[in-house]
Amino acid sequence: MTRDEIMKIIKEKNVNFFRLQFVDIFGAMKNIAMPLSQIEKALDGKIMFDGSSIEGFVRINESDMYLKPDYDTFVLLPWREKDGSNAARVICDVYKPDGTPFIGCPRNNLKRVLAEAKAMGYTMNVGTECEFFLFRRDEEGLATTITDDVTGYFDVEPDDAGIDCRRKIIQTLEAMGFEIEASHHEVAEGQHEINFKYADALTAADNTVTFKWVVRSIAAEFGLHATFMPKPVFGINGSGMHTNQSLFNLDGTNAFFDEKGPLQLSEVAYKYIAGIMKNAKGFCAVTNPLVNSYKRLVAGYEAPVYVAWSASNRSALVRIPASRGMGTRTEVRCPDPTCNPYLAFAMMLNSGLDGIKNNLPVPDAVNADIFEMTAGEKKEAGIASLPANLYEAIQELKANPIAKDALGPHIFEKYIEGKEKEWDAFRTAVTDWELDNYLSRY
Ligand code: GLN
Ligand code: MG
Ligand code: MG
Ligand code: MG
Repeated sequence: MTRDEIMKIIKEKNVNFFRLQFVDIFGAMKNIAMPLSQIEKALDGKIMFDGSSIEGFVRINESDMYLKPDYDTFVLLPWREKDGSNAARVICDVYKPDGTPFIGCPRNNLKRVLAEAKAMGYTMNVGTECEFFLFRRDEEGLATTITDDVTGYFDVEPDDAGIDCRRKIIQTLEAMGFEIEASHHEVAEGQHEINFKYADALTAADNTVTFKWVVRSIAAEFGLHATFMPKPVFGINGSGMHTNQSLFNLDGTNAFFDEKGPLQLSEVAYKYIAGIMKNAKGFCAVTNPLVNSYKRLVAGYEAPVYVAWSASNRSALVRIPASRGMGTRTEVRCPDPTCNPYLAFAMMLNSGLDGIKNNLPVPDAVNADIFEMTAGEKKEAGIASLPANLYEAIQELKANPIAKDALGPHIFEKYIEGKEKEWDAFRTAVTDWELDNYLSRY
């Protein structure tokens, strides 16, 4: 999209509010809203903001930052339409006053890693499957963990608020240009999944952030609360963000497909998988960023616990979905939807590229049910576990040079700093579990 095309839409659609969006390093969406009078200035990248107020950005004394819009991300916000006037947004990259990209901006960082892949002859395509819960709100409007539906996986449900809400979410996404491929009720009560078409990694990250925003905004209109929290309720499935990924050659063919290869996968695909497996423990702190993320990665809820791959096994970290040809891909199953997708994709891509650069051998596929294996059998098969909690994940991140390289020095340092604080706050809190188990007993 060009600047002129945007100006034309702004006039035709009577856009009187304009949002400049970006994400901080923890993936929180930030935006600066502009009235009509500022639109041209905004489109020219001349809007300045104070970077020191954004988590993980910069210190006070070097805080002037500019937002440079990516015109292709311009879109109207259908749920903000009112009396014939509209609101629109555009996603921005963060720039320094000297005109160079700020390396602490997750979107700039993903572009950097994608450029490295391109220099090796590859582009990356990504499709995310974000799961979420729809919960009721209480009388004060605060979120609860109560659902009002009793349907399960793929069930045809009777009409309820959740279903109407999901339909409106889909209509809104379609109006914004998303191609919705499927939507279904997930395994747990109140849990849903909506799948949209894969795209190049940068667009997919933009779409994932936008998707979460739309889901939450529309749910609020229905008086519901949508949450992407990985494990909101103990004892039932949590919410994952399976990340389907493939490399394409610069001529547009799928680099993972080889008609004659084992399972019709290419050597590149196997090396990529090997790289993912080698670095998985190191990228978990980014793909699974919260204390709560590790309550999902436990046995019994279709979430991965072990570092293993398989063509079919859904308990594995890496699965190979059945489609071949242009649709050949790997599905990495550990990420959850609270991750910053720009950083998560950079991490997984750099891990896969590590496999390709260093010719890493792929371990044997594990087609048995890993949860049924004894500790001894797992050890013999060389099957490692993912980090058990955020603390372990941070230690793995710190020790992994591929992860450091994927984040760049600035984000690496700030990210670890923030996550250590978060872990410490949790570590020192006294939880309900402790009170329930210890208070009356001791
Ligand atoms: N909810 C599961 C998870 O936590 C995934 C379930 C599925 O998509 N089959 O990853
Ligand atoms: Mg799915
Ligand atoms: Mg699912
Ligand atoms: Mg899946």
